[in-house]
Amino acid sequence: MANQQSLRYRSYPQFGPEHDQLRRTVRDWCQNELRPHADEWEAARLFPREVFTQAADLGILGIRVAEKWGGQGLDWWYTTAYAEEMPACGMAGLTMALLVQSDMATPVIDEIGNDYHRENFLKPAIAGQAIAALGISEPDVGSDVANLRTTARKVGDDYVINGSKTYITNGTRADFITLGVRTGGDGFKGISLVMFPTDTKGFKVGKKLEKLGNHSSDTAELVFEDCKIPAKNLLGHENAGFYYIMRNFQGERLVGAIGSVAGAQRVLDETIAFCQDRNAFGRPLVGFQTVRHQIVQLEAELEAARQLNYRAVDLLNRKQDATREITMAKLIGGELANKVVDRCLQLHGGAGYMAEYDISRAWRDTRLITIGGGTSEIMREILSKVQGLSK
Ligand SMILES: Cc1cc2nc3c(=O)[nH]c(=O)nc-3n(C[C@H](O)[C@H](O)[C@H](O)COP(=O)(O)OP(=O)(O)OC[C@H]3O[C@@H](n4cnc5c(N)ncnc54)[C@H](O)[C@@H]3O)c2cc1C
Repeated sequence: MANQQSLRYRSYPQFGPEHDQLRRTVRDWCQNELRPHADEWEAARLFPREVFTQAADLGILGIRVAEKWGGQGLDWWYTTAYAEEMPACGMAGLTMALLVQSDMATPVIDEIGNDYHRENFLKPAIAGQAIAALGISEPDVGSDVANLRTTARKVGDDYVINGSKTYITNGTRADFITLGVRTGGDGFKGISLVMFPTDTKGFKVGKKLEKLGNHSSDTAELVFEDCKIPAKNLLGHENAGFYYIMRNFQGERLVGAIGSVAGAQRVLDETIAFCQDRNAFGRPLVGFQTVRHQIVQLEAELEAARQLNYRAVDLLNRKQDATREITMAKLIGGELANKVVDRCLQLHGGAGYMAEYDISRAWRDTRLITIGGGTSEIMREILSKVQGLSK
């Protein structure tokens, strides 16, 4: 199946031998070093910290960041290759934790931060020495980011932070959080982004959260009580945070869409093998027209979603506005991944419902995709605005 995967991606003109090399590196690591531990790490509800340093050694935690800060100085097509191969580890939780580190909590430090931020937060994250988290969602505010409530009050040369965050990936062991806080008045014009070291006095992990799926990653509720951080930890301009968060969401949603489609493709490939092998009424399941028609329909829809992802990657790579295409990619890829994995579980029959088959884990894990990083409903709201249908 590994060959089938690499042949599929090699046929796209965007990818050359260098991308193949990165694909092979990531896939081999996933299959040989991570996949064998999947059951153990899922049961432990955590994977070892060393996985971050291993990922750093492979060069995948700062693919688009300049070499000066430990990155690779490459483009979005390499990020695409990385995100497409990670599902080979068989744990969406671990994949999500690494993507938070490489593409959700840290790119904004490089984009709007200064050298102090890069040296103290970005560089250790790329080296796998510091674990990063992105802290936006709160107990009372998720989709409605403009109304987040955690406050950062300026006192002399410090900010004093009070409030709480929830559903934070890598939250139980993050060394720093790229944190959304309220520094000004109500609404989107009063938000800032700050770099928050978790060894700050007054910070604590309120609770490690138990989830439906993505078990190998940790998700936490975080509490901030009079936490004092230096004012120089502000990223970019004060009260411009909403704009930075929305911009950062673009990359986050795109890697999410890429991973969704690639993960669903992997499940479909495995299901095809299952349907060729499994017999009913004296023939393999693919011998039934209704089964093979379902398979090729899903294959066609995944191909269409992948092309939409690649269109968005191409725009972002050329630094053009890709809000419309990324939003569509997140919406279509997320909804489709759920459909594909659900249909694939059905094609497995009773085996699909058994814990020993990967498909049951994939089914639980995939349910997150239309919720995390912005729900499908919010994607439709954004598209309505882009289309001029709402304000
Ligand atoms: C496993 C996991 C990991 C996560 N990791 C992180 C992380 O690392 N960092 C972080 O900051 N957040 C994280 N999140 C939070 C995630 O981004 C939010 O759950 C998501 O944005 C939705 O917010 P909410 O849960 O508050 O739902 P709500 O905003 O309360 O929405 C509830 C429902 O109402 C719908 N809805 C809301 N507004 C509208 C509207 N205007 N029109 C139509 N429907 C609407 C939503 O689509 C949804 O169906 C994570 C979540 C999960 C489950």
